Amino acid sequence: MLEKNDVDRSILSECTISIRDAMVAIDNNSKGVLFLSDSEGKICGVITDGDIRRALLKGAGLNDRISLYMKRDFIFAYCDDTTDMIVKKFDGSIRIIPVLDRENRFVSFIEGTYTPSISVSQPCLGGKEYTYLMDAFLSTWISSAGKYVDAFEKTFSGYCGVKYGVTTSNGTTALHLALAALGIKEGDEVIVPDLTFAATINAVLYTGARPVIVDIEVDSWCISPAAINKAITDRTRVIIPVHVYGQPCDMTSIMSIAKENNLYVVEDCAEAHGAEWDGKRVGSFGDISCFSFFGNKVITTGEGGMCLTNDKRLNDKMRKLRDHGMSKDRKYYHDVVGFNYRMTNMQAAIGTAQVERIDELLYRRMNIENEYYEALNNVSGVIKQRRNLEHRNKIAWLVSILVDSEKRDEIIRALKRERIDARPFFTPLSEMEIYKEYARECVESSSISRRGINLPTNYEIDSTIIEKIAGIIRNECSKR
Ligand SMILES: *Cc1c(COP(=O)(O)O)cnc(C)c1O
Repeated sequence: MLEKNDVDRSILSECTISIRDAMVAIDNNSKGVLFLSDSEGKICGVITDGDIRRALLKGAGLNDRISLYMKRDFIFAYCDDTTDMIVKKFDGSIRIIPVLDRENRFVSFIEGTYTPSISVSQPCLGGKEYTYLMDAFLSTWISSAGKYVDAFEKTFSGYCGVKYGVTTSNGTTALHLALAALGIKEGDEVIVPDLTFAATINAVLYTGARPVIVDIEVDSWCISPAAINKAITDRTRVIIPVHVYGQPCDMTSIMSIAKENNLYVVEDCAEAHGAEWDGKRVGSFGDISCFSFFGNKVITTGEGGMCLTNDKRLNDKMRKLRDHGMSKDRKYYHDVVGFNYRMTNMQAAIGTAQVERIDELLYRRMNIENEYYEALNNVSGVIKQRRNLEHRNKIAWLVSILVDSEKRDEIIRALKRERIDARPFFTPLSEMEIYKEYARECVESSSISRRGINLPTNYEIDSTIIEKIAGIIRNECSKR
């Protein structure tokens, strides 16, 4: 990792030089950095090309002394430091550090190998996204009317096998809009799973209804039909199954419980675009289904969401509520308190291009997951998310694994040291102060959440990086 260089002193200048001279020096040494010494030859500061760029943007002059802008608080090593001590100074974001003697005089410098950071996910925008976005922009229809809003609603609802699509500003407003259109209000109860992103329960709380948090299934990690059954009271109005981490919920049981008890079902599909239960896409079961197109979801519009329904009455109601509750027939007359939850034509333009290639995007994700599964095959202590559960055809959102709860955070830290972004599972709603009063007993979600890690499905990762990630996990798991 470390490369020592004792001769090249072009990386060193006096701190009295100008910004201009510092730029010339950095250009000459090709290191992107300059170490600066005071009149006694002691290193007193460091400046990078980035620091200079930022100083100039803030109005620094080329003839200003570099000492005005250099960083005085910088990372360095002493020449008698052990290799171990030096290695620890490189956190991956630092490329080069000076080595000083005990008088703080320059001796040499050490370069670390630069590892690019790997984010958990990254939008894939290489199709027609840019073309459609520019088209929307140049048409000047950049607000919430325009052909792409209609096109996106049609193509995405069609992809899911549902009649109507109502775009929204994000996935959370989609959930709130759905509950509002169903008339959910104070005094009602809405059943949600314990293992989900907070937006699911927040949307319920916005309506004034009381959320009821129930446990999940141990194999699918999705809401447990048995737990739903136990939580139903005469105030229950809605069940919100969440197809968590790309895994579809048991929609046959959930729909039959809903039918028996005369309840609505609002599917939260934010993490499972394209997943199937019994050969039918998620989003096609509930009275209303809600999707998110946030930047880390399967397809994205930057921010954005959509409600799907087969019910014309609900479609009309959601459109009205989304648009300030304005009457369709009488402009500026409002007979309900609505919202502004609209998506812009520019977002929808990106979304339209994303739907065109959703199969390709899902295929790429699946291949990434395949590679992880193979690389992690013989790693003892790792349980992979189930892909072969009966009736279920999951998609790969983030690759999800379970490890020993005592090792979980250490694995995430070890990956972070290599600049790889991995995430712990959602904290169960029942373990957060603001939600716990709504929770029924949730044993499984508590255990699974503590053990879960989401690994990157970033499109830029290749088998080398996946092998590296698997190696780090293997190494941590084998520690006692
Ligand atoms: C992302 C997400 C949401 C919220 O979507 P936003 O577009 O970020 O508002 C809701 N539910 C679940 C399960 C999610 O993962």
